[in-house]
Amino acid sequence: MDQSITFDSDLIQRYNVNGPRYTSYPTALQFGEFHPDEFKKAIASSRLNDGDLSLYVHLPFCATLCYYCACNKVITRKREPAVEYLDLLEKELDLVAPLFEGRFISQLHWGGGTPTFLEDEQISRLMQDIRARFEFRSDAAGEFSIEVDPRTVDADRVVHLREEGFNRLSLGIQDFAPAVQKAVNRVQSYEDTKDVIEAARLCGFRSISVDLIYGLPFQSHASFKRTLNQIVSLRPDRISIYNYAHLPDRFTPQKRILAGDLPKPEEKLLILELCIELLTASGYIYIGMDHFALPDDELAIAQRDGTLQRNFQGYSTFADCDLLALGVTGISHIGDSYSQNAREMEAYREHLLAGRLPLEKGAVIDEDDQVRKEVINELICNFALQYRAVEERFNVVFADYFAKEMASLKPMIEDGLINLHSDAITVTSKGRLFIRNICMVFDRYMTEAVAEKRFSKAV
Ligand code: SF4
Repeated sequence: MDQSITFDSDLIQRYNVNGPRYTSYPTALQFGEFHPDEFKKAIASSRLNDGDLSLYVHLPFCATLCYYCACNKVITRKREPAVEYLDLLEKELDLVAPLFEGRFISQLHWGGGTPTFLEDEQISRLMQDIRARFEFRSDAAGEFSIEVDPRTVDADRVVHLREEGFNRLSLGIQDFAPAVQKAVNRVQSYEDTKDVIEAARLCGFRSISVDLIYGLPFQSHASFKRTLNQIVSLRPDRISIYNYAHLPDRFTPQKRILAGDLPKPEEKLLILELCIELLTASGYIYIGMDHFALPDDELAIAQRDGTLQRNFQGYSTFADCDLLALGVTGISHIGDSYSQNAREMEAYREHLLAGRLPLEKGAVIDEDDQVRKEVINELICNFALQYRAVEERFNVVFADYFAKEMASLKPMIEDGLINLHSDAITVTSKGRLFIRNICMVFDRYMTEAVAEKRFSKAV
């Protein structure tokens, strides 16, 4: 499969509307009330109910606030809240583990917040709590990853993470430029980051990914080029470059970023073009949705094989298994259901102290959602959709079922974003940047007004 990408600034000006990132379909906007009995029913009826599990653990604490942050987190320097939170996670584990008896964990991800806000002993405790209730696949067969803030770890802590069983590391970096770091209140040196990556390689981490953000205050084409060159010299297996969306009315920390300090839209476009050109010239493959990977990385291989998946953690080679999420705000995807834990710590605590699963919202996916989910997943992961696969799985005639959507794709065909064949849709190298726009055509809930209000720009 062709994995090339073409940058076209005219198309970007025209197609740069807001849209979901499709880590789920339907998106969380469609979640309503959800009873724990529905969760239990979903586990029992999941077509994957004798398969492996993917386990996500949300650890919301951070010692300092990054001003661009749009995550659900708790800013504190105190250690006590984390101790109490680990007690709550243990209670949650006690409630959920019996529902998944006999199922192995082949994928684990600790996200946040800052998972490495926890001290080494706390990390060991949480890992023991999980291992006491779930069996893990072997190190060679499983993906066990943790998000690391390089400001909170050193070489010894990295070794400890490896000893606890993690084999993938994901590092938040954003930008190395001192002026940018100061403006977003996240100062971390290139040297410290390099030390963490080198320590991880030495002690056997299999994969290292880094997160960057473009569109931050004081960023310029020249300054971001320096950051990208520094990143490329570290040769991470995966690089994610997110577009900063300045929405201070929705995310209070962003009020500390002055709109006048942000790069102008033309500069942002130049930075995006630079990212694509510099990274592809340095041997990285554009996977889609801001993600790049080395050609021998599992994501790049899965995309070439047409087996890439997408879930709440982004692209994955494991997504076709039930996903169980623990912790405040965690979203599980079990069988045909999505279910979300309480978003507020107080409510999360209350449920668990009362001996209840902390679920508050969710959705049961109906048959139409299933068909659309499959279409969106195929397009967003593999940039191609074979009608036959959908027809055989759902017993529909693709051209009839999606007659309205196929007509809506016409302008995108004329603009060269996609090709329509008798048996398939393929996304062109020009269309790859607009995969959200293409998927939105198949999203029955999405209107421009909703997207404008609730989601970030597609590019
Ligand atoms: S960006 Fe990450 S590290 Fe920074 S405050 Fe938000 S969750 Fe914490």
